[in-house]
Amino acid sequence: MIPKLLFAVAGSPHSTPAPGGTVAGLQRAKKLGIAAMEIEWVQNVPKNPERMAEIRETAEELNIMLTVHAPYFVNLNSPDRAKLAASKRRVLDALSMAELCGARSVCVHAAFNLGQEPEKVYRNVRAATADIMQHKRSLFPHVNLAYETMGKQSQFGTLEEVLKISKEFGNYPCVDPAHMHARENGKINSTKEWNDMFDLYEKYLGKKALKSVHMHYSGIAYTAKGERNHLPLMKSDAKWKDFLKVLKKRKIAGVVVCESPLLEKDTLLMQQFFEKM
Ligand SMILES: [Zn+2]
Repeated sequence: MIPKLLFAVAGSPHSTPAPGGTVAGLQRAKKLGIAAMEIEWVQNVPKNPERMAEIRETAEELNIMLTVHAPYFVNLNSPDRAKLAASKRRVLDALSMAELCGARSVCVHAAFNLGQEPEKVYRNVRAATADIMQHKRSLFPHVNLAYETMGKQSQFGTLEEVLKISKEFGNYPCVDPAHMHARENGKINSTKEWNDMFDLYEKYLGKKALKSVHMHYSGIAYTAKGERNHLPLMKSDAKWKDFLKVLKKRKIAGVVVCESPLLEKDTLLMQQFFEKM
């Protein structure tokens, strides 16, 4: 359980001195007053244990909480056996390297619906998840597998889907209210809707689960089909101050990763508003 709410930058801050990298990014984040970081392994997962040890030691020394974003190239609903196997491998790689570097949770885009019935997609994702979770004790005993709420209707990942599957396997999801806002064409942008969202979270996973969340937030552009791209808070329709008020009022604790393209700028904007409340 995390005693408070931390705001994470999504990757090394833009202002990290060259040549950059995760360790330098952590040092820069610390200087900026940021206490959490999501490591973005969205293209591939590095597999060097010494590098993981270095990240772990740096994060511990600086007291920075870590989460990971797994590769985008994952489809746990793929009908192609090789692609399905490669997807499970990528998720497992991200989870095991997260264990080595001391990250607490790994966010995963689980699957594409491929025009199938939601029940069928759910069954396929569940089967793949069971295979992945078989390795928990040996490869990632301290790391949570967090399926993300996704921004397009073509993707697996409504709030109920990720809550349900998380509950089945003893995990918690990565709730991204910006994705929900895009997926629902502009809904999920008010105090009442965020409260409903947390009520449902609590209903599935219990009240205590809201004391160690892994969430994402940002501005977002969207079309009828859902998410187009993430936006800076101030250039979007996100009622981000109201969202932060809900987090404060409900005493949500854990990590909120700010996925704005402005990285540290918007992370600090959220953090400073939250702390001043
Ligand atoms: Zn994501």
